[in-house]
Amino acid sequence: MTRARDRLRGSTCYVAGISEDAALIRSLLVEIGVHVAEDDVDAAAVVAGPAGIDDLAEWNQRILARGQAFLPVFGFNGSYAQCGPFVVPGESACFECFLTRAQANVGYERSVYLGLRELGAMPGYSPLQHSIAATAAQMIHKWLSVEDPELPGLLVREQFHPWNRREHWVLRVPRCAACLPAASRGTSVGVR
Ligand SMILES: [Zn+2]
Repeated sequence: MTRARDRLRGSTCYVAGISEDAALIRSLLVEIGVHVAEDDVDAAAVVAGPAGIDDLAEWNQRILARGQAFLPVFGFNGSYAQCGPFVVPGESACFECFLTRAQANVGYERSVYLGLRELGAMPGYSPLQHSIAATAAQMIHKWLSVEDPELPGLLVREQFHPWNRREHWVLRVPRCAACLPAASRGTSVGVR
């Protein structure tokens, strides 16, 4: 426990986004002892804004290049809220791997799949908003304190109706252009 506490004390996280969801994640992280900062961070949670997927794809590239852990978060879109996959460069699927796999099962554009066209048009649904923010904060906390081996690739989706919460692990797409360089380095670069 002491080791986890020391680790946590020396780690920082950045939460990107100006939405209520981002503010909630930020305050929960502070409450559980995670140092939230803007520079030299070990992990980042990025809440999808109106630019949605393109924004997250850009973050994905930037963060993979820096070797930080990265958690994309999608606020409630009228149907569900989601966070993940938890991206650990060199170890797990990245956000582009997730999009590739998601699109392999459906014929629509990727923004339609995630319901992001409606994002921002829906009034926040407080219970799911809080619930997904708590899940995101807990994932970041567990990574920074104990580098939980279950986290890389984990995706959590909470659906409004019928109410359920699903977890699954997104696998890397072997030839993913975004994370291939990190994967070929073959080293974990989580918490330093
Ligand atoms: Zn990838």
